[in-house]
Amino acid sequence: TRFHDLNLEPSLLHGIADLGFEYCSPIQAESLPFALQGNDVVGKAQTGTGKTAAFLVAIINDLLRNPITEGRYAGEARSLVIAPTRELVMQIADDAKALTKHTGLKVHTLVGGMDYDKQLRQIEREYIDILVATPGRLLDFVSNRHCYLDECELLVIDEADRMLDMGFIPQVRRIIQASPRKENRQTLMFSATFTDDVNNLASQWTIDPHKVEI
Ligand code: AMP
Repeated sequence: TRFHDLNLEPSLLHGIADLGFEYCSPIQAESLPFALQGNDVVGKAQTGTGKTAAFLVAIINDLLRNPITEGRYAGEARSLVIAPTRELVMQIADDAKALTKHTGLKVHTLVGGMDYDKQLRQIEREYIDILVATPGRLLDFVSNRHCYLDECELLVIDEADRMLDMGFIPQVRRIIQASPRKENRQTLMFSATFTDDVNNLASQWTIDPHKVEI
């Protein structure tokens, strides 16, 4: 599958071309047609498979296709990617910034261990199209009403198995409780392994997901 054949928004295709991507990797070819239709996806994929672009292309295309022209509030996120580590968040945000370069969409990050006030200043007065975050700092910001997930249409949970291993599930659960019900959002979940625990979370957080295994 070529990205050109997926009927993507032109400004997104422009960013994809800038990165030199022409053909979808297997995880992209198997998940994008479903994700682009608005279906939930649960994908088994390791780092290096192109899973980041798989979920980013899906959410960016959806945000572009459904622009919000009024009634937006500062600090409100339209989409959220949760990942277990700061390094992963930064990598995802870099890819998101590259893919959105020609779109006008705004990418923000929230990570623990970095200057709190600086992140607060960067987020509280902004429209947030894509928020990429680690669970602890995000939950802090949500609990203190520095950012809002009520209107979050798209939720990505990356590396769910590592989230479990690192003990982040209680925080992730509370973040999801602050987001729209699963009937009213699209949820994409990725994990390097499909253990019983991961499958159990997938059944709680997604609806009739398309399952992809690479
Ligand atoms: P990831 O598994 O998301 O960490 O991606 C692994 C690497 O593959 C990254 O350096 C991406 O920039 C690159 N990549 C992702 N999708 C494609 C694609 N369709 N064609 C070429 N390279 C890609």
